[in-house]
Amino acid sequence: MNLAQQVLHTSFQSIYINEILSMVASYLPWTSLYRMRFWPGDCAKIVQAESRRRIFGVIERFVALDNIRNFVDLLHATDTIILGAAVRYVLLLNHPAHTPTMPSVLELATTEAMVDEWEQLLSSLGYESTERYPEASYKNRVKIVLDFERVLEDGTSTQVVLLVAKTSPLSVMIGSPTTAGMNAITSTLVVSFYPRLTFANEALQIEQVAVDDPLATAGVATFDSNSHWERPCGSYCPTKKRKPFDDDGAAIYCWRKDVIFEGDAELEWDDGSTLWGNQVATHFTYSDTLSWQVSNYCDNSSGCSYRDKLESRSQYL
Ligand SMILES: [Zn+2]
Repeated sequence: MNLAQQVLHTSFQSIYINEILSMVASYLPWTSLYRMRFWPGDCAKIVQAESRRRIFGVIERFVALDNIRNFVDLLHATDTIILGAAVRYVLLLNHPAHTPTMPSVLELATTEAMVDEWEQLLSSLGYESTERYPEASYKNRVKIVLDFERVLEDGTSTQVVLLVAKTSPLSVMIGSPTTAGMNAITSTLVVSFYPRLTFANEALQIEQVAVDDPLATAGVATFDSNSHWERPCGSYCPTKKRKPFDDDGAAIYCWRKDVIFEGDAELEWDDGSTLWGNQVATHFTYSDTLSWQVSNYCDNSSGCSYRDKLESRSQYL
């Protein structure tokens, strides 16, 4: 084989391998997909493309493909976040035990100052809105709710629910009545404050918050205690005081670099940041200083260092 043939052979081989790797990526559950970015070659780029495909795949149901870029630009410009079933769908796709169903409603949380921008975009896409007060469980965090509906040519309809936060979109996420609502997609990140529960398709009820919101709990096994847990709590103990920044229980995945789309340029991959884990200091996780706790009690029979520490301390009190 001469040099030209060799070059041709090598580049043909790498294109072929990338096609196979892209196909492998499309079958992986979320956590394995994110581990794949450490594989050699173009795997980081392949993981980027696959995460984008999954996120765009959900948005596309509500916003025609041509408008997805405008939609993500507006998420970015208005610090709006996607919540609820759409985020769980992305996180549970290809999960070996839990098959998520494509959500019928897209929930967004934004601030009052950004409502006009969203009304403008959604009405240009054929949506009509009605205004209502939030469900009881969201009243502390949500000022008003706008329900957008669009009827398609085939007679079916799609719905977007815009939750207008009293303070920040992050506060709406944290104010969820169960841990199932504590997942979000921002214009650059996928954030899960309870990843172990989310990937088990389980949720814990937040004590003292009434669960009357079907959107927050649809399709998720919801428990009022962790007595059935089979592993020690670690960072996931329901008694642990949590906060949105520097929190070692959260999983934060970066799916797109913090830049606005420019023309037809490919989206950039943020190689410099930690794409899996909790070390990413982001604008989003610093946007509110709230802290929260799932419960005052831990019933985990397989062990909990938080509870043991508390009990040993109480002997001296
Ligand atoms: Zn515990």
